[in-house]
Amino acid sequence: MKTVISLVALTATLALGASVPKIEQLPFGQADGKPVSLYLLKNAAGMEVTITNYGGTVTSIKVPDRNKALGNVALGFDNVAPYVATTSYFGALIGRYGNRIGKGEFQLDGKVYNIHPNEGSNVLHGGPVGFNKRIWDAKDVSTDKAPALELHYVSPDGEMGFPGKLDVTVRYTLDAKNGLEIEYSATTDKPTVLNLTNHTYFNLAGAGSDTVLKHRLTIKADHFTPIDSGLIPTGVVQAVAGTPFDFRKGNVIGSRINEVNDQLKLGKGYDHNFVLNEPRTLKDWAVRVEDPSSGRVMEVYTDQPAVQFYTGNFLDGSAVGVGGPFKFRSAICLETQHYPDSPNHPNFPSAVLRPGERYHSVTIYRFSTEQ
Ligand code: BGC
Repeated sequence: MKTVISLVALTATLALGASVPKIEQLPFGQADGKPVSLYLLKNAAGMEVTITNYGGTVTSIKVPDRNKALGNVALGFDNVAPYVATTSYFGALIGRYGNRIGKGEFQLDGKVYNIHPNEGSNVLHGGPVGFNKRIWDAKDVSTDKAPALELHYVSPDGEMGFPGKLDVTVRYTLDAKNGLEIEYSATTDKPTVLNLTNHTYFNLAGAGSDTVLKHRLTIKADHFTPIDSGLIPTGVVQAVAGTPFDFRKGNVIGSRINEVNDQLKLGKGYDHNFVLNEPRTLKDWAVRVEDPSSGRVMEVYTDQPAVQFYTGNFLDGSAVGVGGPFKFRSAICLETQHYPDSPNHPNFPSAVLRPGERYHSVTIYRFSTEQ
């Protein structure tokens, strides 16, 4: 009888233990003289995501293909050194301001702010030392349902020229249905502007595969924001109808990328902000990507007003990561966001955050397969 009871207890403990997701913490090298870690999140369906607290960076996303073979679909590296060296934002958290601020200057409440430039006179992704180059505090906040990693960073008042001490928390959760959820929250002690996103480069055929041009893309966006020669929005919100920017019914990415078109020329391909149609809800996807070769599908759910669709036009094979060199157009980024340069365009949705308010936003990248 005793044996039976202890066996039952043991089985119950094992079952319970197996159902409690935990994160594995591994060494990932040193940055800024400090050790940084890699956190491995796994779900019961076999999906695996690794994230480092350097830059809050997603370094790999392993998901099954149509034959259930696990493959990594996120461009990345196996130690921190290349992340310290790169200016391509592989997998990183982006802040304080995703994408560009023209001339690095804007006015808020009548005061002019100048942000440290890092692309000529313009500012890209928060300036020369953005959130992608910071070491975040990391905490395992897994629940009995899902592994989750919480990252925290306090950006001092005036960092890179931005006003206000900003307290930022980003929580990555890997759910049971192969969704990687990213929840961003922030508060400030002075009026400021904020546009947080994640810069993962995806190739559903596997990171290191040649191009992404055969992937099929759908974006629920009736409009996009055209750019000038510095890739800064002109301020116009243009209909996609009748242009190579119309992805509403689903198109192969490479089918129109080389068309003679001023906007494609300026972006060297797709590198544009798409305005997501209303209503924006986390219940329905805003963007869907399908890779016919592997059968992998990714859907993007977001509450953000827009998404930057970027076809890796500045990748040139010089960065060699897990899977091989990351070549021209060998990945896409789908950066959910406020519109680039919003602080200089009153007709764009406001990216202002004030004391007493809480910035909160959720984006989910959900993976599945089709035959
Ligand atoms: C931008 C590109 C830029 C890239 C940096 C993207 O979000 O839209 O223009 O080159 O980030 O890797």
